[in-house]
Amino acid sequence: MAPTTVPCQYRTGKTLGSGTYAIVKEAVHIKTGQYYACKVINKKLMEGREYMVRNEIAVLKKVSKGHLNIVTLHDYFETAHNLYLCFDLCTGGELFDRICAKGNYYEQDAAQLVRTIMQAVKYIHECGIVHRDLKPENLLFRTKAEDADIMIADFGLSRIMEEDKFQLLTEICGTPGYMAPEIFKKTGHGKPVDVWAMGVITYFLLCGYTPFDRDTQEQEMQAIIAGDYKFEPAEYWENVSETARDFVRECLTIDPASRPTAAEALRHKWLASEEPHFVTNA
Ligand code: ADP
Ligand code: MG
Repeated sequence: MAPTTVPCQYRTGKTLGSGTYAIVKEAVHIKTGQYYACKVINKKLMEGREYMVRNEIAVLKKVSKGHLNIVTLHDYFETAHNLYLCFDLCTGGELFDRICAKGNYYEQDAAQLVRTIMQAVKYIHECGIVHRDLKPENLLFRTKAEDADIMIADFGLSRIMEEDKFQLLTEICGTPGYMAPEIFKKTGHGKPVDVWAMGVITYFLLCGYTPFDRDTQEQEMQAIIAGDYKFEPAEYWENVSETARDFVRECLTIDPASRPTAAEALRHKWLASEEPHFVTNA
């Protein structure tokens, strides 16, 4: 893919969000009037790895077109200082904000979302890509509609960013809350880290708070390594089925080798059938 040198075909607008290493702006393709989300990444973050990044972007472009629930990368170009990636514009906001607005999700709705996201994770894994940063801030709704498609955003680049810088950045602005124990133990961060993150996301969807939230990042990290979480306080969990809890427990298996794969997680009873086999807290 030959990058164009100047991003002059787009006019950028308001800032949509910012994350671990990029700013995302609304952008209009001048010729077509089509709206996109343009992710601006400072090239300093990938010093010496430009070649890998370009390679990875070509892969992302291809992979992202293959699944309905993954934000499609349409275009990319670069200037001396920045890399610009143009994605589908999702106007429905982050899952994070919807959970916060609702307090928590009904179990059936949570299962539906988790099933959809897990299917997309399975697809990414089959393409040989690990997301590594699954969390409700990176899951976006395509439109503002209540039943809008959920989309996975922000994947694939984290593994080629300089490891130490990435770590530094998450220390400064991120929460380790969704990171798997093996990441802290530095024993690997393959596909199982995404399934762990899905366990944390499911927990969050069901009760409205995350399982390893502690006063300090150090305590949070220790809790993750020890797998120290509970389905408490009880009042937040009384309407949640044992099947759902079991699903969370499975995803939060400390040993990555024993943790289910995305394909196995999809076969768990909680996700396997769309039949409601649990009591809703309606
Ligand atoms: P980072 O790698 O810095 O975390 P993200 O790709 O997660 O960057 O983007 C940061 C934020 O920008 C997201 O959390 C989201 O709020 C917003 N955003 C990202 N992609 C899109 C998109 N395609 N449509 C709308 N908003 C987006
Ligand atoms: Mg992000």
